[in-house]
Amino acid sequence: MSDEGAREAELATQLARVEERIATACAAAGRARSEVTLVVVSKTYPASDVRLLAGLGVREFAENRDQEASEKAAACADLPLVWHFVGQLQTNKVRSVAGYADYVHSVDRVKLINALSAASVRRDGPSLNCLIQVALEKESGLGEGRGGAAPAEVGELARAVTEAQGLRLAGLMTVAPLTGPHAGSPATAFARLIEISRDLRAIDPAASMVSAGMSGDLEEAIAAGATHVRVGSAVLGVRPTLG
Ligand SMILES: *Cc1c(COP(=O)(O)O)cnc(C)c1O
Repeated sequence: MSDEGAREAELATQLARVEERIATACAAAGRARSEVTLVVVSKTYPASDVRLLAGLGVREFAENRDQEASEKAAACADLPLVWHFVGQLQTNKVRSVAGYADYVHSVDRVKLINALSAASVRRDGPSLNCLIQVALEKESGLGEGRGGAAPAEVGELARAVTEAQGLRLAGLMTVAPLTGPHAGSPATAFARLIEISRDLRAIDPAASMVSAGMSGDLEEAIAAGATHVRVGSAVLGVRPTLG
């Protein structure tokens, strides 16, 4: 078998395993499989892997660094893919990100919303879908300086996205916190995110997306009510250190 054939077989096996986990978690939660979208996080892996996964039926991909993401999206521009940006975002990268991203999951401050709005208006395409990243550890005064907004800030940021030209409020995103009361307990973290999402949907029913769950905790996220799981290593393999 060629190297590419071997890699395709490996990806097919790992993807099938993840699909099985998602289906089992949906069944256990009494949810339809169609309620959960798999977003494959392709960071650190080459565009050739994205191409192979696209051939296996994956349509949604996520990246966390602008330069890597823009190169991969350009290399796969002939494929009908949806790109999600999930990394911490500096305002000076926003114009580039708006060039390829359909969704930005890491919206966490008003300055970034203003920059995204200007970039989206400038690209003159469909509205850029924004998710507010919630740092649940900030509820207990931890995680200062890391990405994500405190739960108490979500309302103000949601309003800013709704009022911004060129942006659409899609929903919320979180990463299970490593510190604070939810450390080591993704189930309670995701339950709290769903509570915040319910408050948000009371104001804006269309902002129904809940991006939560990764390779290690996708079952807990689906049980809580996540609509999008972001899975990297379980599909592509364990990443070498960085990323
Ligand atoms: C890398 C990453 C993921 C995927 O993590 P895995 O553990 O490899 O599944 C999900 N979300 C974000 C924000 C990431 O940076």
